[in-house]
Amino acid sequence: MKTIGVLTSGGDAPGMNAAIRGVIRTGIYNNMRMMGVKHGFNGLITGDIDDMDISSVSDIIQRGGTILRTARCDEFKTEEGQKKAINVLEVFNIDGLIILGGDGSLRGAKALSDKGIPTIGVPCTIDNDLGYTDYSIGFYTAVETVVDAISKIRDTSYSHGRSNIVEVMGRHCGDIALYSGLAGGVESILLPEVPFDIDSICKKVIQGKNRGKLHNIIVLAEGVSNAYDVAKQILDKTGIETRVTVLGHIQRGGSPVPFDRILASEMGKMAVELLMEDKSGRALGVKCNDIFDMDISEALEVEKQFDVNRYNTAKILSI
Ligand code: ATP
Repeated sequence: MKTIGVLTSGGDAPGMNAAIRGVIRTGIYNNMRMMGVKHGFNGLITGDIDDMDISSVSDIIQRGGTILRTARCDEFKTEEGQKKAINVLEVFNIDGLIILGGDGSLRGAKALSDKGIPTIGVPCTIDNDLGYTDYSIGFYTAVETVVDAISKIRDTSYSHGRSNIVEVMGRHCGDIALYSGLAGGVESILLPEVPFDIDSICKKVIQGKNRGKLHNIIVLAEGVSNAYDVAKQILDKTGIETRVTVLGHIQRGGSPVPFDRILASEMGKMAVELLMEDKSGRALGVKCNDIFDMDISEALEVEKQFDVNRYNTAKILSI
């Protein structure tokens, strides 16, 4: 293994830059030639690839987003697109590839590995929806952003005596809502994993008001229901004014928290070391603070488990 390429794909996640830095510096430390592929799998198809050196990754560990940029690339899902990518890898003499991204990007990594390209997948997504790993890079930073927003909304909720809904990201996974709801001490957490029951939410709003609570915050994971519809239903059923804040893409940005920087640095280093050991088709993960690698196909088959205990804790503490 002489030359390693790295790319970021799918949704950006804070900590991707720290992972790129970990990859590039480890490769250079081990006398490898390191190359950065731009715009996800698009850059692999079009040959948008540059050499990277120690200073290409200076001053990025603290930056959100990805210096390599990212993209979704439908062409890469096709056989033809993958063949083009493999040709480009040959033209640039890239012997191994490290792919940073979420579920879809790891499927892309698997596709290349199945075709004989030494490939390692590093989990980077704020959604934390990969079942095989406790955490993905970017998740804790997104939670930090949401908790900060909840604290600010709590001030205004208290001052006006209103109910507030905070809509968060996560698609089909409720982890951002669950962790930020627990850390933010909110009254209700609405997740895709738990059936939605408007009456029990309204009951909580009314009970809170009756015992003199001046604020009521509901964290709603996107995809559960329309936040504005839920607000209207609460107003109609309780008479309590309910405001909506959709946090949207601010959850993707920001400086990564130390946990994400450390995870990214360690995973970036390990990804290079695995390629140097001639390993391929591996996905990196973390369980109980230990970073591990496993077969990427098996990793992608592990179903995400909902943390019922954590959900129950949040419920008990929000009575
Ligand atoms: P996030 O979780 O943040 O959305 P992601 O990596 O899951 O990130 P996707 O849009 O699902 O984001 O995938 C990113 C890219 O990975 C796709 O645009 C495509 O190029 C590639 N990809 C996705 N699925 C496959 C697949 N089954 N085979 C090959 N490539 C794939």
